Amino acid sequence: MGDARKKNLWGFLRYGLGFYRNPPYIEDQLREADVRSATYLTAVVCLVEIAMILRYVRNWVLPGKVASVGEFFHYTSAYWWLLGSAVLILVYGVLYLKGKLGRLRRLSSVLIFLYFAFGIYFGITTGMHDFSRGRMILCFLTMLMYVTVICVWRPFSSVVLIGGIGWLFVWLLNNRTFDKAGNQLTLSEGDFINYVTFLIILCILVIAVYFQRYSDAKKSWELRKIAVTDDLTGIPNMRKFNEDARACMEKSRLDGKYPMFLVFDLANFQTYNDRFDYAGGDKLLIEMGKILVSAFPGEPAARQFGDIFSVLTNAEDYLDRAARVRGQVRAAHPTETYLDVKVGAYRMKDSTRDARHAVDRARHALKQLHDREDEFFLEYDEQMSRDYSLKQHVLNNVDDAVREGYIKVYYQPVMWAEDETLAGCEALARWIDPKFGFLSPGVFIPTLEEGRQIHKLDLCIYDSVCRQIRECLDQGLPVLPTSMNFSRLDFELMDAVGELEKLVAKYQIPKEYLHVEITESAITNDVDGLKRAVSRLHDGRYGSYAVWLDDFGSGYSSMNVLKDFDFDLLKIDMEFLKNFHNNQSSRKIISCIINLAGDLHMRTLCEGVETREAVDFLREAGCGRLQGYYYGKPMPYEEILARIQDGTYKLRSAPLPAEREA
Ligand code: C2E
Ligand code: MG
Ligand code: MG
Repeated sequence: MGDARKKNLWGFLRYGLGFYRNPPYIEDQLREADVRSATYLTAVVCLVEIAMILRYVRNWVLPGKVASVGEFFHYTSAYWWLLGSAVLILVYGVLYLKGKLGRLRRLSSVLIFLYFAFGIYFGITTGMHDFSRGRMILCFLTMLMYVTVICVWRPFSSVVLIGGIGWLFVWLLNNRTFDKAGNQLTLSEGDFINYVTFLIILCILVIAVYFQRYSDAKKSWELRKIAVTDDLTGIPNMRKFNEDARACMEKSRLDGKYPMFLVFDLANFQTYNDRFDYAGGDKLLIEMGKILVSAFPGEPAARQFGDIFSVLTNAEDYLDRAARVRGQVRAAHPTETYLDVKVGAYRMKDSTRDARHAVDRARHALKQLHDREDEFFLEYDEQMSRDYSLKQHVLNNVDDAVREGYIKVYYQPVMWAEDETLAGCEALARWIDPKFGFLSPGVFIPTLEEGRQIHKLDLCIYDSVCRQIRECLDQGLPVLPTSMNFSRLDFELMDAVGELEKLVAKYQIPKEYLHVEITESAITNDVDGLKRAVSRLHDGRYGSYAVWLDDFGSGYSSMNVLKDFDFDLLKIDMEFLKNFHNNQSSRKIISCIINLAGDLHMRTLCEGVETREAVDFLREAGCGRLQGYYYGKPMPYEEILARIQDGTYKLRSAPLPAEREA
């Protein structure tokens, strides 16, 4: 109820009498309040009518004043009618309040009105009957109060109904009521004044109750509005989106359509934020919300979080509309050429599923767009569906996989460049899944990192490696120093160094058998935390681990990493050896890296060695160790042992050189 309505006389009257439109939510609340009153009151009426019938039985039936069953029902018929209708309204009310009525909810006003009319009819007839016998008209007044309490309608209807019914009753008393002798009766002036006063007070009470209910409903509506609106953009939030989507999906199902979920992303929004500060970024988000709502009028549209928005549409031309949104955003910021809009889409064919299921898939399609510079729209397809279910499987089953032993360690040999004897091996994870078969780390490692669960797998690998070394030590088999891959997240998600120490203590492993590999690209966030971890690995109380920098040269921060961290060995990324055969630059770069590492007192290992030519070149260039398919792919430890046995891999007789420079 806007304050504008109260500002002039007309506004005041409209407000006072209730001539305005309420939002459906408020109407619903008011109706529910009526149904609630009706439920409570009919429960009381049921008890009262049962008491009346029992009273009749005690006073008339038992003393034998009533001759037959027919006579009994004839005298108690009004009570039975009232009882029956009260039970009906009571059951309806309970089901309504429990939300079990579906479309029958709309019947509430009709039912209550019928009940109202019946109650008034009963009150008038009984009132006239009592009056004709010289008794008070209390029954009419009671019934009038009773029915007005369950029908707290807008002020004007309350005034009209109470006034109209009140006037009708007085007219009937004064014109249609006769005593036993057939004389016309009239209401005395004193009673009339009391009667009118009663009606006025009843009107005031009902109107007061109405306004109280109205203001409660309005407050709850406003709270609800806050709960379903996105603070910043003013468009709905995801809670509202999911509610609206449910209704929209149901409607589409009835129309035989499949709605389309679209997820919009403002690409490079971070850069925009950096340039225009958060206030500028906020403005852009508000603008984006408006553009979306106007491109998809009347359809669910919401801000998910950050710069991600969701839309659900039945429009056939959804692609054109999405392109229009993109065009409008870019046209509004012609100088910000980096700014773009990307859209992931998913067509929902199963209307029984949760809207979040569809939004997740549309977002999955959106993610695939990040690597596709020139595309802006991508719909979720079969291949994505397979990738997605594989990813979900990985995330949902990592604990089982660890527990059930689906995670296996494969070992790839590492050779001394100097004499090509076995220097050690790298532990690489494999997931042999009963449902999806053999999974490569390229699939599950990034997924587990994204889902922040990588530490579970890594811990399992460290444990297996330590157990393997212990077994070899116990059985007098050759023990190979093994390097293990540590993800950046391992240091965030667990006390990686502490866990490693525990395993080393548990299996009693000399630390020179374990090396820690940290990927160059891992060193982006929390540099200080990683530095602390590296120094803990180096400064262990009972000997220290060698820490290796994996995939050196693959990222953008290579040189800084060398400056900031104290690594023992540099693993040169296998990219440098690609096309190495006819690329002089690659050779020069590799030589430079090896020399640089030497100057910084770091050892070197080159990954991806696949040819004899590469071996010869790397040895010549002074690289310390070699790893690659030329010597063998990752394999189970037993196979390495077998190859040592058959002489394919030779072991050095000399003791291992120190991994860390003193
Ligand atoms: P990485 O640590 O750089 O491991 C070397 C990868 O290169 C391995 O792939 C290996 O099979 C492959 N490779 C070795 N020699 C050659 C070669 O001559 N040619 C070619 N083309 N490839 C070669 P893989 O096993 O698929 O592992 C991929 C990446 O997954 C690893 O790269 C590592 O970053 C990650 N990863 C593997 N196991 C684990 C693990 O247990 N924990 C963590 N956090 N990451 C792991
Ligand atoms: Mg590695
Ligand atoms: Mg590597």
